Amino acid sequence: MNFGLTGQVAVVTGSTSGIGLALATALAGQGVHVVLNGLGDAAAIEQTRAELAAATGVQVLYHGADMTHGDQIAGMIAFAAERLGRLDIVVNNAGIQFVSPVDQFPPEKWDQIIAINLTSNFHTIRAALPIMKAAKSGRIVNIASAHGLVASPFKSAYVAAKHGVLGLTKATALEIAQEGITCNAICPGYVHTPLVDGQIKDTARARGLTEEQVVRDVILAAQPSKRFVTFDQLSGMLLYLVSDAGASVNGAALSIDGGWTAG
Ligand code: NAD
Repeated sequence: MNFGLTGQVAVVTGSTSGIGLALATALAGQGVHVVLNGLGDAAAIEQTRAELAAATGVQVLYHGADMTHGDQIAGMIAFAAERLGRLDIVVNNAGIQFVSPVDQFPPEKWDQIIAINLTSNFHTIRAALPIMKAAKSGRIVNIASAHGLVASPFKSAYVAAKHGVLGLTKATALEIAQEGITCNAICPGYVHTPLVDGQIKDTARARGLTEEQVVRDVILAAQPSKRFVTFDQLSGMLLYLVSDAGASVNGAALSIDGGWTAG
């Protein structure tokens, strides 16, 4: 399917693995030049970058901005616009998790999760909007979570940050509603990333369960479909939002969670 995005430029934060890499790959597959970002081994990141560029024929750059540093985030947005000549799409995807009862939650972990999962979105938006306003077009898509809409125990910082992302999304959407720009949030349920794969194996070992039992009864306990959300499904939602067809969707929190938040 052609979404009419050829020649556009996107920044995807946290795109060295998991959902971010899948979304960056989907954009590149549509002819969008992409700036990858995220942590990891430098040689592995360079290999990912080079392979994606070779497979799609678009320009794929990497910027190592740490999402806990606003000045580095602003530098990454400026880098994208300068090196690739424009900036059409920002996908705020970088995120981390930490699980602990709220009264035992390490304050430094709280600060780190709020910085990476919430405040980094403010910094990319702050830096990108002047460029998008000048162009009278742009798309901002924040990867929130089902945990932006409902809570689970022991995930206080993550749940607070993701609820905050929805607030930032709505406030931004109202401000730019007449500027040709949209700002939306995608709220996935569980997605089978390498991170989740590790959790499945660890839980199976720790509880003496099969991996199938862990997936169904532990990981997907809250997800009525009992199926993971796939990268292709997330990519389809992103491509719709950033295409012309998505122009009137603004300030939305789009659930893609197999029915989790319907209950
Ligand atoms: P992941 O761990 O596979 O990827 C996270 C990415 O963020 C990596 O590229 C990592 O390098 C990057 N990152 C982490 N800290 C960073 C920092 N300080 N600076 C720059 N980059 C940093 O995780 P994922 O499962 O792909 O999650 C991606 C996003 O999707 C997150 O925001 C997460 O909350 C959200 N999400 C995930 C799921 C799921 O089931 N996996 C469900 C709902 C929402």
